[in-house]
Amino acid sequence: MIRVENLHKHFGGFHAVDGASLEIAPGSITGLIGPNGAGKTTLFNVIAGVLKPTSGHVFMGDENITGLPPHELFHKGVLRTFQIAHEFSTMSCRENLMMVPGDQSGERLWNTWVGRKRIANEERALRAKADEVLEFLTIEHLADHKAGQVSGGQKKLLELGRTMMVDAKIVFLDEVGAGVNRTLLNTIGDAILRLNTERGYTFVVIEHDMDFIGRICDPVICMAEGKKLAEGTLDEIKANEQVIEAYLGT
Ligand code: ADP
Repeated sequence: MIRVENLHKHFGGFHAVDGASLEIAPGSITGLIGPNGAGKTTLFNVIAGVLKPTSGHVFMGDENITGLPPHELFHKGVLRTFQIAHEFSTMSCRENLMMVPGDQSGERLWNTWVGRKRIANEERALRAKADEVLEFLTIEHLADHKAGQVSGGQKKLLELGRTMMVDAKIVFLDEVGAGVNRTLLNTIGDAILRLNTERGYTFVVIEHDMDFIGRICDPVICMAEGKKLAEGTLDEIKANEQVIEAYLGT
């Protein structure tokens, strides 16, 4: 689904991504692990269009998507989750979801004059979709809560929910488990597995919690020093001597 070829991202003289080549199979939940500073987040940001690569290529199927901006990748179904922006923290969880599609008629001034009925219908449909997403994620009770006031794990679920408001094909999740309690982490894991099996989402997941990775990810790719070091099941990766060395060396 995604093929990364000899990708480099340099910050000045520092090579954060240093010749990474890897493939993400369609329908997989691929785990991306590696010691701090291995270049995982930078790689995510280059694939998702947040950063331009220094050199190398990213393909989606046969299409060269290297360096496309995030909004173009968004329309191709390539999504990277982001923390709920501070400005949106006073809006309700439902409203945060309703904003995602972003091209509703109501946003165009002309339509506010000529198409009130259409806007009302669109808004009703969006609201129903948002409520369906909240239910899928088992957080329907938070619909009217302000996004800034829900727990860290619930925010992560909401970030995942934002990808469900559009037709995502591949979703990049950066440290879903950071600061999240075990129960909510399991709920997040369940949601990812269901989105994968029921809706065909492909996922790439950066996470330090190996129990979480082991439960939902196959394959697992280990990065070190800006490139892929090893790929396999979590057990294979854990037994790989180069991987052990890379972790011990940090
Ligand atoms: P990981 O996610 O594996 O911990 P990162 O991709 O966050 O690794 O970072 C890889 C390296 O690149 C780190 O040493 C980090 O300090 C450096 N780095 C990341 N972003 C920048 C930046 N914008 N400017 C300079 N150095 C950066």
